[in-house]
Amino acid sequence: MTHRILVVEDEPSIAELISVNLTHAGYEVEKAMQTEVAASLMKERLPSLLILDWMLPGKSGVQFAKELRAKERTRGLPILMLTAKSEEGDKVSGLDAGADDYVTKPFSPKELVARVKALLRRQTPIEDTGPLTVGPLKLDPSSHRVFAICPNLEPQPISLGPTEYRILQFFMANPERVHSRANLLDNVWGNEVYIEERTVDVHIKRLRAALVSVDCDRYIETVRGSGYRITKTPTQT
Ligand code: CA
Repeated sequence: MTHRILVVEDEPSIAELISVNLTHAGYEVEKAMQTEVAASLMKERLPSLLILDWMLPGKSGVQFAKELRAKERTRGLPILMLTAKSEEGDKVSGLDAGADDYVTKPFSPKELVARVKALLRRQTPIEDTGPLTVGPLKLDPSSHRVFAICPNLEPQPISLGPTEYRILQFFMANPERVHSRANLLDNVWGNEVYIEERTVDVHIKRLRAALVSVDCDRYIETVRGSGYRITKTPTQT
């Protein structure tokens, strides 16, 4: 299957540079100069991945990412954010808004393609482990779905972004063990791209926020000075 990538970028030369390199790497590319155009393209068909510029005329990339994350249909869509050097201080807010990764302009096309590949790979299951269960949480890799199973209630679906899903899958496949940020980066992001360890904290925060709705956030524990783990017997109740 050829992955289709939607590039939302208002500077034609940058959009073209991205498009040429992604096409060369074997992807199908669609371009939009603003979020309104991107939104109407996505109504017909969702892309495999969205490359989203931060600064756009009209609605900003950050605002658009927030809206996509809030909607059931687009919550799992991988988003790679483009930020200019001057906005670098804000990149964490880009991640907070819902992006899965970001690339700073000016970027090397090779680096961008590597990050697109890594992000798309995160979409595919780590390995076919069969359904995983830890405490009330149940993850089914074959359907890519996560549920909270509570006594006397129907299973409650939990919707997660692609990175949060993959972190949870890794945790649930390796329960009770403490995983350092570096270990999570290797196993969840892959080691061919450089990502700051701070990024892990942002995604753990998002994972916990998604689990709050089913009262399961306490199963993800922070182990001070070491990292994170999932446990079926959380200390905090
Ligand atoms: Ca721009």
